[in-house]
Amino acid sequence: MCEHNWLHTTYSRVCSTCGVEIKQLHVDTYNRFSAPILRGYNRCARFKLKVDKLLCFHSGPQFKDKIWNLLKQQQHIMSCPKDIRSVLRTLNTKNKHYDCCRIFSRTFTDFRVSLKYNVHDLRTKLVSKFEDIFMSWCSSPYDHFFSYDFLLREFLTDLESDLLVFCKPTTCKRRYLKYITMLTRVQHDCKTLNQTTASIHSPNVLWHANSPPRPIRLDGVQILRALASDPSHNVVLSEE
Ligand SMILES: [Zn+2]
Repeated sequence: MCEHNWLHTTYSRVCSTCGVEIKQLHVDTYNRFSAPILRGYNRCARFKLKVDKLLCFHSGPQFKDKIWNLLKQQQHIMSCPKDIRSVLRTLNTKNKHYDCCRIFSRTFTDFRVSLKYNVHDLRTKLVSKFEDIFMSWCSSPYDHFFSYDFLLREFLTDLESDLLVFCKPTTCKRRYLKYITMLTRVQHDCKTLNQTTASIHSPNVLWHANSPPRPIRLDGVQILRALASDPSHNVVLSEE
């Protein structure tokens, strides 16, 4: 008789010894406004929500959220995303909705940007970039994940998108170096894995692996240079 060694998924528990699985649905007690069944933490969903707010597929905070009135009172001093962020910082409200910077800009200022891509294509590109990084990170040695703001900024920079202006700028150089080192390592490992897989798999996979690698904007030498300018950073470099 198996004594069961349970592993928990978001909807069941599975015995790692005998494989028996028992459905188990939990109620979400964290947020009383959410759907009653616990959906667990979903990184891809969280990133997509950020993208939807940036691309204005999302309509922003609820109409009764006090942030709308607070921003309206300051409308006369806002003309660009930077002004919006400055005002948000001063507001006496718990949730500042920084992710809604573009929605607020469109509502309270005349500031607009021109987009190089169709928004639907851009959404697909951003989500796909995130999923690639997320999948690579899952098999990486890192136990902490990237900052979502960092990844969004990196992706928009790669795509040379003017939407970058709506993102929170980098404030901590040390944290930036930590994430860029992680990203370089994760992308490098992913590329190596693709090449190894391609040599033993079907022509289909071979084609995928031979497609141009995603650009790595900061290589190991550049990171070393950045570190040299401030050697107090404790950053582990990947082996190139
Ligand atoms: Zn068992």
